[in-house]
Amino acid sequence: MRIATALVVVLLTVVTLPPMRAQTRMRVLISVDMEGVVGTVTGDQLGPTGFEYGRFRDFMTREAVAAATAARAAGATDVIVADAHGNGENLLIEQFPSDVRVIRSWPRQLGMVAGVDQQVDAVIFIGYHASTNNMKGVRAHTFSSATLTRVALNGVNVSEGSWAAAIAGHFNAPVIMISGDDAAIAEVRSAVGNIEAAETKRTLGFHSAMTLTPQASYDLIAARVKAAMGRRSEFKPYKVTTPVTVDVSFKNYTAAETLAFLPMFERTDSHSIRFRAKDMVEAEAVRTFLTTYRPDLTP
Ligand SMILES: [Zn+2]
Repeated sequence: MRIATALVVVLLTVVTLPPMRAQTRMRVLISVDMEGVVGTVTGDQLGPTGFEYGRFRDFMTREAVAAATAARAAGATDVIVADAHGNGENLLIEQFPSDVRVIRSWPRQLGMVAGVDQQVDAVIFIGYHASTNNMKGVRAHTFSSATLTRVALNGVNVSEGSWAAAIAGHFNAPVIMISGDDAAIAEVRSAVGNIEAAETKRTLGFHSAMTLTPQASYDLIAARVKAAMGRRSEFKPYKVTTPVTVDVSFKNYTAAETLAFLPMFERTDSHSIRFRAKDMVEAEAVRTFLTTYRPDLTP
């Protein structure tokens, strides 16, 4: 009897273990920008030449760590973090738990949500900001504050968050939570629905906000990630109609003029071009090219 019982236990273990493990696997991608991080208001915090950058990349990292830790506590088995601001080299990788993987630097396929093609089950946006067409958002811009004045997807102006959500939707991954200022949250929610949100600061203008303190922001982000993971089944991938039509407006004339030499681009006004792409992966590849390419690129 004892041998038979042991045999049954072994058989049950062998038969049931692989599917149970497969069912409990949950991959989460955390895409981290910086303009929506607690306290950031100007270039003084946002790049290596700013006098407060060193402290604020630490705050940025801790917000991402708070999200990663909360996601793990709520059942995530795999966490990928994508550094999605500036040079893509802001996050202090030594602060993350040892099983997290961090995506760094550009250019890269899938841009701000690189890694979303790795069978990701849920996407979290940390430190996101509003679009260049938003009159309220702190440091509001879309992909390039220096060169672009509008990006529209199927005729509707988009923020980086809505665009990234549409890429994630292509891979059937829903966005479940966003942190940033109130304007950034409202814009993404208007596209993807009522996801969980952590408002790190309230906008007072392009270069001003009333902000939480760092620890309060980490605590709020952890709470909202926990809530989002609990509601995960409610969130649907953000699917846009394909093929997609993308409109891009430039600050200056020459980019629009020269791109229109190529048959894939239609010039729609003095500063604007339009292109079509079969899906968001192709659209993102073209978008990356438009904001990256220069003939003097090195190496
Ligand atoms: Zn940024």
